[in-house]
Amino acid sequence: AKDGGRAAYRFFIASHNERSLERLELENDLRRAVEGEQLLLYYQPQIGASSGRIAGVEALVRWRHPTRGLVMPDSFIALAENAGLIDAIGHWCLVAACRQLRAWQEQGVPVPRVAVNVSARQLRRWDFAQEVLQVVTQSGIDPAGLELELTESSLADDPEQILAIFSTLRQAGVRVSIDDFGTGYSSLSYLSRYPVDEVKIDRSFVSRLLDDREARSVVRAVILLAHGLGMRTVAEGVETEAQWQVLSDLDCDELQGYLFSKPVPPHQIPLLKGDWQRS
Ligand code: C2E
Ligand code: CA
Ligand code: CA
Ligand code: CA
Repeated sequence: AKDGGRAAYRFFIASHNERSLERLELENDLRRAVEGEQLLLYYQPQIGASSGRIAGVEALVRWRHPTRGLVMPDSFIALAENAGLIDAIGHWCLVAACRQLRAWQEQGVPVPRVAVNVSARQLRRWDFAQEVLQVVTQSGIDPAGLELELTESSLADDPEQILAIFSTLRQAGVRVSIDDFGTGYSSLSYLSRYPVDEVKIDRSFVSRLLDDREARSVVRAVILLAHGLGMRTVAEGVETEAQWQVLSDLDCDELQGYLFSKPVPPHQIPLLKGDWQRS
């Protein structure tokens, strides 16, 4: 038993080192990715529940790694945050998304808005709001065409700084959305404290909507509260027509999920249906 334990321990060390090595390698690759034009954005439509049309698109980053293929954000965003690379990646995403919106609008593609994910780390920069507004100006889009998605947990950091950033952005017309709503803590109090335009109901609630009465109650309460505070609601991860039905009945404003479209490269956005009606 003693030897077995030692062997297992040694095995743990080896695999732990291997993993650190792999992380280190990936981190070095990521450093090059930002400059080497290996990042790209996919876009997923957000559908107006009553209009059935594209109300906006969310930009989701991907990394075309030279040997690993297309790497998904869950495999590198946390790494980027820890390696101090998230500001550069976040800036790249912001610029690319604003330019893309501008390009669609010049082509007459009916995309009113683009939503960009922002990491909690990015909000720690005192000049974050100025950076965003500069990108908006340089890309020539209407500030109301940009929406920033911030997770609920990122609001916990520094309330005063975050409030200042939000008010600068919103005064300029940029929209702010709270992502993954319901997964953090003290969710409801945040909503009244932070001036935001939109609340995104987390996928975990949407997936339980049909067979879990409590999930349905939470979603109903969030929508009522958000509307009471003058905010729009978006449901993420909508995969079935039954979920669409329930969310429309609960008066959710926008819907996003595989039911309508997976995230796609920008050239595929004009090819989407553009008019979704429940059968
Ligand atoms: P998120 O912001 O919650 O984005 C939604 C994720 O759910 C996306 O995964 C999307 O592809 C996926 N999804 C959309 N519809 C459905 C559906 O109907 N069913 C299911 N099962 N999944 C669906 P993705 O693209 O892998 O992104 C994962 C996360 O990575 C995002 O979660 C976001 O937190 C982060 N992320 C993505 N792009 C960026 C970025 O540019 N900056 C930062 N800081 N984070 C990003
Ligand atoms: Ca939105
Ligand atoms: Ca998001
Ligand atoms: Ca989410």
